[in-house]
Amino acid sequence: MNERMIRIRGARSNNLRSVDLDLPRGSLTVFAGVSGSGKSSLVFDTIAAEAGHQLNETYPPFTRNRLPKWTRPEADELSGLSPVVVIDQRRIGGNARSTVGTLTDTWTYLRLLYSRIGTPHVGESNRFSFNDPAGMCPNCSGLGEAVEIDVDRFLDPDRSLSEGAILLPGFVGGGYWFGKIADTGSFPVDTPVRDWTEDRRTALLHGGGPAARLDPRPPADFEALVPWFERIYLRTSDDLSDRKQAAIDQFTRSGTCPECGGDRLNAEARAVRVLDRTIGEMSRLEVAELADLVDQVREPEVAPVATALGDRLRAMTAIGLGYLHLGRATTTLSGGESQRVKTVKHLGSSLVELLYVFDEPTVGLHPHDVDAMTGLLERLRDKGNTVLVVEHDPAVMAIADQIVEIGPGAGTDGGRVVFQGPFADLKRADTPTALALERRTPVNTVPRERNGTVTVEKADRNNLQNVTVAIPTGVLTVLTGVAGSGKSSLAAELVDRHGAIVVDQRPVGANRRSTPITYTGIAAPIRRLFAKASGLPAKYFSANSEGGCPDCGGLGVRYTDLAFMDGQETVCDTCGGRRFTERALQHRVDGLTIADVDELSVADAIHRLEDPAIRKALHGLDRVGLGYLRLGQPLTTLSGGECQRVKIARELREATEASLYVFDEPTTGLHLSDIDTLVGVLDQLVERGHTVVVIEHNLDVIRRADWVVDLGPGAGRHGGRVLYEGPVAGIEGTATARALQTG
Ligand code: ADP
Ligand code: ADP
Ligand code: ZN
Ligand code: ZN
Repeated sequence: MNERMIRIRGARSNNLRSVDLDLPRGSLTVFAGVSGSGKSSLVFDTIAAEAGHQLNETYPPFTRNRLPKWTRPEADELSGLSPVVVIDQRRIGGNARSTVGTLTDTWTYLRLLYSRIGTPHVGESNRFSFNDPAGMCPNCSGLGEAVEIDVDRFLDPDRSLSEGAILLPGFVGGGYWFGKIADTGSFPVDTPVRDWTEDRRTALLHGGGPAARLDPRPPADFEALVPWFERIYLRTSDDLSDRKQAAIDQFTRSGTCPECGGDRLNAEARAVRVLDRTIGEMSRLEVAELADLVDQVREPEVAPVATALGDRLRAMTAIGLGYLHLGRATTTLSGGESQRVKTVKHLGSSLVELLYVFDEPTVGLHPHDVDAMTGLLERLRDKGNTVLVVEHDPAVMAIADQIVEIGPGAGTDGGRVVFQGPFADLKRADTPTALALERRTPVNTVPRERNGTVTVEKADRNNLQNVTVAIPTGVLTVLTGVAGSGKSSLAAELVDRHGAIVVDQRPVGANRRSTPITYTGIAAPIRRLFAKASGLPAKYFSANSEGGCPDCGGLGVRYTDLAFMDGQETVCDTCGGRRFTERALQHRVDGLTIADVDELSVADAIHRLEDPAIRKALHGLDRVGLGYLRLGQPLTTLSGGECQRVKIARELREATEASLYVFDEPTTGLHLSDIDTLVGVLDQLVERGHTVVVIEHNLDVIRRADWVVDLGPGAGRHGGRVLYEGPVAGIEGTATARALQTG
């Protein structure tokens, strides 16, 4: 394939309005546009999805089934694509065997060093692999943590087996595994577990014959719950699915392994030294420090390994990860950190002509760190790859070969290409991004008066160096500092000591049925509108009740639960996904059926559904810039930034007594033009008497703070100190102060 362009014709996924676009291969393109305009729909749901799909098609069916599933985009033509690498902010999976070292391949190099020049001399490098029986600590199997199964959580003693006493996935609701147990005839299926003999409970949990058989049949083959759990969940080195991980979290406890002290390796491997350090000690050094240490390796036989390792560690430092250590479990990384760690892996790749797709790579980065990230994007391109970036930061737009702006508005007001060309031309264009670029937020010179103070004294969590700060209450405080300086650690102290309400980017919505309707609690008022218009009882308009399609129970999809594998979802063919009965669909309010209401955007619903309760509930979502969400859109489709704004909207509605709020980078995913709206919302919280503390890199937000706490000067052990506390207008001499002057 030698095409020079990625050719897109008639792309229509989500809100895209039949987008036609040609993108030069081998170049760096930034996709800009207001939140909800369709950037992700184009870049992820269309381009990356088709590239992924086409790549999968090249594999035999057996392999294909094990690859990530891509939903094929709606488009007339998509050509000129390459194998795609998506580097998004999804946190790196829950696999406890994955560390910063293993994920970046630096651990492989380090193992090689130890196997070749370590003393006492040892054999092969897999002796230093905690994922290999030759190297792993026998007590924790290389996890560094001893996971203890918490059998108390397996059973609900108040229920009998047939009432679902076994709480493990796959047993609930009479599943396959439940049948296996019930069929043994060894357990009283209808007696609450509490009333069983100790022997019988032990037999169910751990095996061994129960004292007396209840059934004349010979005992059927049966695996007790604990060995079953270990086999299905714990003795696996595969990447774990979210469902499996959730089960592990639910039914186990863990702590540092007493045998290896968290080093994950066996005694032999833990004793070997290079430069007088054990590999465990090296894994606890900060990456930046380790890079300097590795430079001291002189043995010629490992020179290429040491060079490769040093280069990789320096690349990590360059993109603002120098404060991490290789032993850090990837499960503890933030979204932005995860993305940067994933990026490092690809820097070393010698593959060319790939398609790299990034989702806001500057998240979590101080302006000071952004240069390193842009350098990295340029390097990927210069190696001959095509790089597509969804990004709001002008510093990234400035280095792009071209900008594509999707817009002009959000949802149905967006979905078109409103600009394509170099950044210099964008600045002269008449688009929302161009207008926002021109704007300059003035520094807040009249900060609000505090009404009190909350203090954190002598904090030493993670890298904090005995930090004492006084946070003013009743005002907006911004925590600033380079990545890894200790902002999140300080915020965590604040939360622990003062019980703050954390408004973060974790998913909202308890289950797959959660939508803006359920979340804001307007389902009942909507049904009442339909009941009033039709004269029928409201329950005929409830998908969970009489109004729901009988075949899918009002879900619109059918879901096959496969116990320990990820479930399968298919659209219900009775209702075609519309969830309601024909009867419910016959009645209309303002020309809309109950199913049409799902398709309304929040902003449209505020205009069309005449009910004060509905308007009041939805107003909050509109105010935080989410007016483009569809009422029936599953909350599972929201990005981290959108989830956070949904939570802000709820707090705006519900919080009554004065509270302390902590926000982690609320501008994530927000277009420059939406930032005013966001700060307006934070201001509203303050005006209602709340205290708002925000971790934020966005200069427009920092400029509007009443109070700034600047941490640094560097990352990790080079940070963790308070450099400045005071009104934003007074900050001087720090990296944040410099960024405020130039940015
Ligand atoms: P952006 O990336 O520019 O913020 P998106 O592409 O995520 O915008 O969203 C564009 C529009 O499509 C929005 O109205 C959004 O609510 C809608 N949308 C996004 N993802 C889905 C989805 N999985 N299902 C239905 N609608 C979606
Ligand atoms: P920031 O929020 O300013 O980016 P953090 O507070 O996240 O900084 O991190 C400060 C330091 O604490 C870093 O050296 C980081 O690696 C370390 N750290 C943060 N979280 C953890 C954790 N869960 N385990 C170990 N170290 C951590
Ligand atoms: Zn161990
Ligand atoms: Zn149905």
